[in-house]
Amino acid sequence: MSTMFAGLQGEFMTQKRFLEAIIVGSGFGGAVMCCRLAMRWPGEVLLLERGKRYPKGSFARSPHDFAANFWAPAEDGQARKLNGLFDIRNYRRMDSVVSAGLGGGSLIYANVFMPAPAWVFGPRWPAQISATTLAPYYRVAQSVLAARPVPPAEGDARRTIQRTSLYADFARADGRTSRAADIAVFFGKGYASRQSGPLPLGEQERNRYGATQTSCTYCGECDVGCNVHAKNTLDLNYLFAAEKQHGALVETGSEVTRITPLSEAGEPDSTADGRYGYRVDYRDDAGTPLHALARRVVVAAGTLGTNELLLRCRDTLGTLPRLSQRLGHGFSGNGDFLSFVSGGTRAADPTYGPVITQFIDYGLQQPTPGQPSFMLEDAAYPAFAAWYVEGLRPAAGLSYLFNRIARTFKVFKQRWVDQLFSGKWSGSMSAYAHTALQGDLSYRSSVLLFMGQDAADGTLHLHRGRLALDWPQSSSRPLYDAIVACGKRFQQFAGASTYFPQPTWAWPVRNNITVHPLGGCALAEEPAHGVVSSLPGARGQVFGYQRLYVADGSLLPTGVGANPSATIAALAEWIAEDITGMTPDDTLGVPHA
Ligand SMILES: Cc1cc2nc3c(=O)[nH]c(=O)nc-3n(C[C@H](O)[C@H](O)[C@H](O)COP(=O)(O)OP(=O)(O)OC[C@H]3O[C@@H](n4cnc5c(N)ncnc54)[C@H](O)[C@@H]3O)c2cc1C
Ligand code: SF4
Repeated sequence: MSTMFAGLQGEFMTQKRFLEAIIVGSGFGGAVMCCRLAMRWPGEVLLLERGKRYPKGSFARSPHDFAANFWAPAEDGQARKLNGLFDIRNYRRMDSVVSAGLGGGSLIYANVFMPAPAWVFGPRWPAQISATTLAPYYRVAQSVLAARPVPPAEGDARRTIQRTSLYADFARADGRTSRAADIAVFFGKGYASRQSGPLPLGEQERNRYGATQTSCTYCGECDVGCNVHAKNTLDLNYLFAAEKQHGALVETGSEVTRITPLSEAGEPDSTADGRYGYRVDYRDDAGTPLHALARRVVVAAGTLGTNELLLRCRDTLGTLPRLSQRLGHGFSGNGDFLSFVSGGTRAADPTYGPVITQFIDYGLQQPTPGQPSFMLEDAAYPAFAAWYVEGLRPAAGLSYLFNRIARTFKVFKQRWVDQLFSGKWSGSMSAYAHTALQGDLSYRSSVLLFMGQDAADGTLHLHRGRLALDWPQSSSRPLYDAIVACGKRFQQFAGASTYFPQPTWAWPVRNNITVHPLGGCALAEEPAHGVVSSLPGARGQVFGYQRLYVADGSLLPTGVGANPSATIAALAEWIAEDITGMTPDDTLGVPHA
């Protein structure tokens, strides 16, 4: 933290002041809002995040540490038992994975930055928002997140990613083209600014905002947290500048439980409209109740967190009774669909390189009327998961076990014959180790990440005080059927023995899984159509209240088919500009950035 703000944390802990803004949640929406509002009101912005900070080397890798790496709700007044990174939810016909931690979804996301195709901003979106309106905000967010394609291999074997060429060949065979995705991964400051080539793998330097990062080591572990800080996660750019440069107060392990407007006398008053500010109640991991007061509140707890908090404030606690009846409507899973192809004849090497490197368009960028619009992205997973799969295999197939034993026996037999007749025996076990390990299943397996435009007709509501979701799966079924057909074509192309869709797709469960939950607090011109205003002077402001804002994935009136974090960040920039009156730029107010 700059010296100017060094004393504020302590002062804040002892004397709760009336702040300019409280931000709830630190994902793509929350991080942008925190930075921009802290630039406008230095030292007067408080960010509350339920998860932990993740410095270098702190992401779980061992089975023991992973067992504690999940997030679970805690009862009032009780200490939290699980405050890890992965918040996995199970709803009717739709499961979801989101993140808890400083940086939100950026900590476990696959780094893809992709603006929504222009046609997506259709009739369900308010007139104020289009690809053209959002273009300058996409540009700023992309520059801050330093999203660029993976550097070309140019003869460096360590930069060669086998699955990239496998997917490109499949695209050609399927009459499509594969394009490199822009990914928010650090390959050196010079590469990010297009002034030089990439930094050698594993070398470190400070990024333009002052955070030390490592040039990507191609370990394939992006979705379980990057232990060397090669991912351009939000804690290394927007939040870094907010805290170090503009004195934002950041409290982690702080879960917001209630938002109440204040009366003129400064008392909690659920009939008030927010003109006198708000009281925000939260709890720490020990279960201790805490609160803070502010002139404005930005709810950026992610689609599930924001809908749950606002529904509770409206329907259970009664502190925000004026919220629109559209709250919770228009949920989308962004058409997510995961598939696996295993035992192919070509190398896929899915444990190497950043998790996504490219995408193949199936009518998402250029739609065909009457056809589902989706795209396919390649995926990597951590090498330790491949060892786990190999460990499971003997139990899964006796023929595999016998095959391995026979191969091992053959090597030893050959050694024994060599030694007997020629006296040659080097003592080296390398050939044995080579034979035992080669031919692993994972090397010839692929993970296919599909996403597309679903019907966005889900409804979030409360059931026994907790968030619940109704997902009318059948209306999005044509999309899923087209995706499964594409997965089977990939299987044929790869000469693979097996294709299987996501595990929860098997009958009788038939659940979708989304890592991109969206909607429920749709942007609109009036409360009959949404929850949050899109009008100038009130962008992002919740209908019925003054200076209460939403800024996260819940704002989207439909899915975007593309990976959504770019659109969430761009919308947050667009809202922050309206609140602060400051045109956003990519320096984040950091000198020489
Ligand atoms: C495995 C995986 C891969 C992904 N890959 C991509 C990708 O490549 N590209 C892409 O664009 N998107 C990707 N996503 C999706 C992306 O991460 C989300 O769309 C994005 O993070 C949503 O941003 P947000 O601001 O809406 O909320 P989030 O990023 O979810 O942030 C919300 C934050 O609020 C906190 N919070 C919740 N409730 C409370 C509360 N009551 N009090 C305090 N804090 C609270 C949460 O802990 C969280 O940190 C991926 C997601 C996953 C899980
Ligand atoms: S591939 Fe490894 S080093 Fe590179 S960003 Fe992903 S987790 Fe970090």
